[in-house]
Amino acid sequence: MSFHIFNSLSRSVEAFIPLDPAGKKVGFYCCGPTVHDFAHIGNFRTFVFADLVRRYLEFRGYTVRHVMNITDVEDKIIKRVREQKTTLREYTGTYEAAFLDDLNTLQCLPPTDLPHATGHIAGIISLIEKLIARDIAYKAADGSVYFSIEKYQGCGCRYGQLVKLNFEEMRVGERVSADEYDKQSLADFALWKSRVPEDGEVFWESPWGQGRPGWHIECSAMSMALLGPSFDLHLGGEDLAFPHHEDEIAQSEGAGVQAAGKRFVKYWMHGAHLLVQGKKMSKSLGNFFTLRDLLARGFTGREVRYLLISAHYRETFNFTLEGLEGARTAIGRLDECLSRLQELAGAENATPDAGLVARFTEALDTDLNVSAAWAVVFEWVRETNRALAANGISAPQAASSLASWARLDSVLGLGRAKVDGPPLELSALLDERQAARKAKDFKRSDAIRDELKAKGWMIEDTPKGPRLKRL
Ligand SMILES: [Zn+2]
Repeated sequence: MSFHIFNSLSRSVEAFIPLDPAGKKVGFYCCGPTVHDFAHIGNFRTFVFADLVRRYLEFRGYTVRHVMNITDVEDKIIKRVREQKTTLREYTGTYEAAFLDDLNTLQCLPPTDLPHATGHIAGIISLIEKLIARDIAYKAADGSVYFSIEKYQGCGCRYGQLVKLNFEEMRVGERVSADEYDKQSLADFALWKSRVPEDGEVFWESPWGQGRPGWHIECSAMSMALLGPSFDLHLGGEDLAFPHHEDEIAQSEGAGVQAAGKRFVKYWMHGAHLLVQGKKMSKSLGNFFTLRDLLARGFTGREVRYLLISAHYRETFNFTLEGLEGARTAIGRLDECLSRLQELAGAENATPDAGLVARFTEALDTDLNVSAAWAVVFEWVRETNRALAANGISAPQAASSLASWARLDSVLGLGRAKVDGPPLELSALLDERQAARKAKDFKRSDAIRDELKAKGWMIEDTPKGPRLKRL
């Protein structure tokens, strides 16, 4: 079997076959953050999902160019810059740094490219010029430039590839200038917004006068600049399918830059919503979490990552604090198993268990069925623990198990626990207990055991002698 994914364009599961004739290179774009605030946990579900897709493509042997844009100019940002009387660069710089920091905490691989919208203004202008030249975009009286859905459809192109739209409700000439709007606003949308006093110093010169780009055209320009006019895979949260992604397709295909018969994007993947504590996340409900909020409650990036990728990407997922506790337990079991294998394996190198890797691959080949992949992982942990308990694992077998985990973890990205051994004074106490036992001073030996227990550690006997283990 090969890698199969649900393509939102065809609304069906398809074999993933890259455009590269050699079948090797993959161009992959994920709509990045709008850096107007700290990203919340719902945003991160999408970014961790993108990281999983990228890692799996690499695991499958592809060379992936992973582009994630930084939207550093759009309506919400302009509003905040104005309110806080700061500059665009200063304002967005703070949140961009925080975002990259969070991405790192969640153990996401850095994208290959992180283009900024403000770094692509010339490309954006030239794309709008192409649309005007083809008569698909027009300049309105106020100097703004709009995309004409009617003209676009008139060229034989289709608007509404990702979502079903009711064109009966559309009124010719109706326009929407906001970056975010709903399906009720099936109207011409802004490509270039003419400068207004509220924009302050945020503007660029253009053939249509001073202004700034609309949000949707930014992604079309950046993705095509880096990945070419046709590329393999575009990913985002399902809330972006309309209007953002629909508009991206319209702008990119409307410019007529693709080779005959080629689309802007071959496969679209959309991640489902995240509920928090059973409800849509909102500040007023008290269930709005940034990653920082969760870290402040004592959870780790690994635990949050695990929980975010524990369910299938197309299922609405209910993220809860209890779920994070469960993640802690699951990861603890895994870490415990790995550390015991490590003790047995020593420094031996080995090859992964082909059967285990094959079962894991089969799960993820099926539209990235990550829950099935986790089931494979935990079945393996169970079996390994059984064998460990029966002392039935040799050093080469332990090394092979560790090599298997390294292979699986190149996709899951959990890494190994930072080794957090017992403090030195407790190790000294353990030595003292051994000495007491040798001298048959069992009273002292038991007292030390109780003292260690009170400090949260238990003594475990292993073939290599006793060691301390967290309770
Ligand atoms: Zn985008």
